[in-house]
Amino acid sequence: MTDCYAVFGQPISHSKSPRIHGFFAAQTGQDLSYTAQEVAPEHFTARVGDFFAAGGLGLNCTVPLKELAFDYAQVKTPRAERAKAVNTLKRLPDGAVLGDNTDGGGLVTDLLDNHHLTLAGQRILLLGAGGASRGILAPLLEQCPHSLRIANRTAAKAEQLAAEFADLGAVSGGGFADLAGQCFDLILNATSASLSGQLPPLPAGLLSPGGVCYDLAYGNQPTAFVRWGQAQGAAHSLDGLGMLIEQAAEAFRLWRGIHPDSAPLIALFDHERTSL
Ligand code: NDP
Repeated sequence: MTDCYAVFGQPISHSKSPRIHGFFAAQTGQDLSYTAQEVAPEHFTARVGDFFAAGGLGLNCTVPLKELAFDYAQVKTPRAERAKAVNTLKRLPDGAVLGDNTDGGGLVTDLLDNHHLTLAGQRILLLGAGGASRGILAPLLEQCPHSLRIANRTAAKAEQLAAEFADLGAVSGGGFADLAGQCFDLILNATSASLSGQLPPLPAGLLSPGGVCYDLAYGNQPTAFVRWGQAQGAAHSLDGLGMLIEQAAEAFRLWRGIHPDSAPLIALFDHERTSL
């Protein structure tokens, strides 16, 4: 019988995950199906229960379900515990459901392995204090940056998040206005502003010479933040397509015990969008 996997979210019709996992399955010779299913938060618990009861082996959970997935999982990986958000569920042989968060690992793999960047000793600015920021903070701090500043529209959320992760490194938080006069080597945009073509209000001079910008959002066209980075003279101004593929590769490994090669898929997606 074909092994069943799926991604739950709302909205979900735009999801690239079925294509990504279909590619990985073909590449590694695994017999599996992977579907995208629209699931509203109020139906999450029942739908996950039905999925696993029908023999499903694993789920990805995306916006707005990651906190619900955290609550659902009976066993959690340390990084999921730390993030308090889960994007990957796996049914274990004893029937218990394991929750993991592969977002941060995906981002760090994209930065280090695909873009050959270093995070150690860097001054990092993280824009946004929502679910994505929560998922990536610990993996970023594990790379021993010089410092990590969180800036958010609602400053209190950034301060609270910084306090929560302060045991892992030099992390602080505040609002966008506090950024004036500061300078960073890497600026990560984990706000959802790009999704509506907007930019956080960023003062000039934030990016150091040779600095890098990275938008977790992605699209067929450069996002508003990627364009901002280009205008600041960033050495690289990148979007989150590589992160998306790498977090999927980590979920695939958790489910199937084999790590797919993401490079051909990144090249294919890049080729497709430059051909548009
Ligand atoms: P959340 O809804 O949890 O958080 C949204 C964040 O964006 C909050 O900090 C919010 O600030 C801020 N924000 C929203 N609108 C604006 C605005 N107009 N100006 C400034 N700040 C704004 O979203 P997520 O954390 O889940 O997702 C954030 C982004 O990361 C999305 O673009 C998402 O697509 C992307 N992402 C990409 C992944 C990938 O694999 N590439 C994986 C996960 C996420 P406030 O607290 O004040 O409301």
